[in-house]
Amino acid sequence: MRNETIDYVVIGSGIAGLRAAIGLSRYGKVLVLTKASVKTGSSIKAQGGIAVVLDENDRFAYHIEDTLKAGAGLCSESRVKILVEEGPARVMELVNWGTHFDIVNGQFLFAMEAAHSKNRIIHAFGDSTGKEVERALIYHIQHDIQNIIVRGNVFCLDLVSKGHTVTGVIAFDEKSKELFQVSAKAVVIATGGSGQIYKDTTNPRVSTGDGISIAFRAGAEIMNMEFIQFHPTALYNPKKRTKFLISEAVRGHGALLRNTNGERFMPNYDQRAELASRDIVARAIFNEMSNTKSDFVYLDISPIALDDFRKSFPTIYKECVDEGVDLKKGLIPVSPSAHFVMGGIAVDENGATSLDNLYAVGESACTGVHGANRLASNSLLECLVFSHRAAESIAKNNKKIISSSSTYIPNFHSPLNNIRELMQQNVGIIRTAHGLNKMLQEIEAAKAEKQTFTDFSKIFHRFEKENMLTLSYLITKSAIVREESRGAHYRLDFPHKDDTTFLKHYIITREKEFWREHNE
Ligand SMILES: Cc1cc2nc3c(=O)[nH]c(=O)nc-3n(C[C@H](O)[C@H](O)[C@H](O)COP(=O)(O)OP(=O)(O)OC[C@H]3O[C@@H](n4cnc5c(N)ncnc54)[C@H](O)[C@@H]3O)c2cc1C
Repeated sequence: MRNETIDYVVIGSGIAGLRAAIGLSRYGKVLVLTKASVKTGSSIKAQGGIAVVLDENDRFAYHIEDTLKAGAGLCSESRVKILVEEGPARVMELVNWGTHFDIVNGQFLFAMEAAHSKNRIIHAFGDSTGKEVERALIYHIQHDIQNIIVRGNVFCLDLVSKGHTVTGVIAFDEKSKELFQVSAKAVVIATGGSGQIYKDTTNPRVSTGDGISIAFRAGAEIMNMEFIQFHPTALYNPKKRTKFLISEAVRGHGALLRNTNGERFMPNYDQRAELASRDIVARAIFNEMSNTKSDFVYLDISPIALDDFRKSFPTIYKECVDEGVDLKKGLIPVSPSAHFVMGGIAVDENGATSLDNLYAVGESACTGVHGANRLASNSLLECLVFSHRAAESIAKNNKKIISSSSTYIPNFHSPLNNIRELMQQNVGIIRTAHGLNKMLQEIEAAKAEKQTFTDFSKIFHRFEKENMLTLSYLITKSAIVREESRGAHYRLDFPHKDDTTFLKHYIITREKEFWREHNE
């Protein structure tokens, strides 16, 4: 196997990976490996924007409070404080690197989103925030920085370790069909989310939770995996694998939810009505869908003038028109879809995992800022703040490269057919012990069968299947042991929050599973 050495390897080219690479480039050479084209990932799909305290009427304390409230008791207060207080500097850095946020008369335009107490969401070109930030980061890397090499169509398969120390990665180059190893001082996992393990998801095809599985196989701690956020309003289209998101900002702008009988229902569920937190809105929609025996509800945009809607949400407007939705009638069919994983690879405040030289940032990491439920538009901020911190911390530690060569023969389990449908049915918005245990049995049956695989030309999809099996195990197992309902995790058989027993985090490693006390 070909062997390379470099100072730092970053896996993934979303906003988290690119921001980490930019930070690291000040201290050494960085190799960014990414499994599809550079711009593929959740980041470029982000519409609503970035939550940040930059308005004179806003306060750090308000943003912190909103984030903690959404997180339902499981956020780390100290990490939330870091997120909110370091956010403005990271956002202004983006502006300096050429990001065009929407500005009027020299002032940011601040939008409102669910569960925020202030208008604090900055955005770009209405609803193309992620695309614009990603563009600016790539431009900055290509024009202002020498030290970063970005290689597309390279699939990272596994980490190379010596005991508890990660020394590099094993990857497969789709173009040359070559397996190779890279040794580095530090490896940063920035592989994004895992929505593709559900049938209905807003996440792109690449979001199969690879980084979380790779870290798990290497022995890292994985935390809070039961908390999967379902976005309440994805455009209903049963034919599409990735559902198109209708941003929360549309409800923030005045749109209402109605069931298929035309009745507005959110005021019956929460006093914040359409602007309640995502878990509450998603469950209410799920409930209305089953009461009306329908696969969707309507987002009624008639309170917004159509011209205003077109100008404020140009991408959403275009997608609805392309999908044949008659916007003059004002009713957009929507249903909830898996959107964001609050859990992930457990990290400290600098992105360090439980393994030496291994860091995780962005959606694949569990920094503790989202707790049991993410506040809208906090994740791009998390990518920026914690990727910067990870880069600085890695540089400070300045470890040596440990080169090693090894033969690599991955072991797989039998793939689980219909895994996405099974996850949706049994480990979805509403969960029961019966469904969860049924799912676990299916997973265990697949895991009982070991397969060795040496046909590397087809390795990409085979690895994704293995990673999805691992993810389904981590989510299902964590959901079984949390016998309460909190944030995005709802158990019909345990419908209440139980702070006495469950104000703690469930951790799974290759060797053991345990609860960690929540101290903040
Ligand atoms: C439709 C949508 C709208 C959203 N809107 C917002 C919003 O308005 N505001 C907000 O804050 N958040 C939003 N989010 C969430 C936010 O976009 C994501 O959480 C964030 O972009 C994650 O960034 P990331 O860099 O961690 O991952 P991603 O951007 O998903 O990037 C992951 C990268 O890793 C690569 N990769 C994956 N596996 C491998 C592998 N095995 N080997 C090599 N490379 C690999 C991928 O190809 C990709 O380049 C939205 C998400 C979606 C899906």
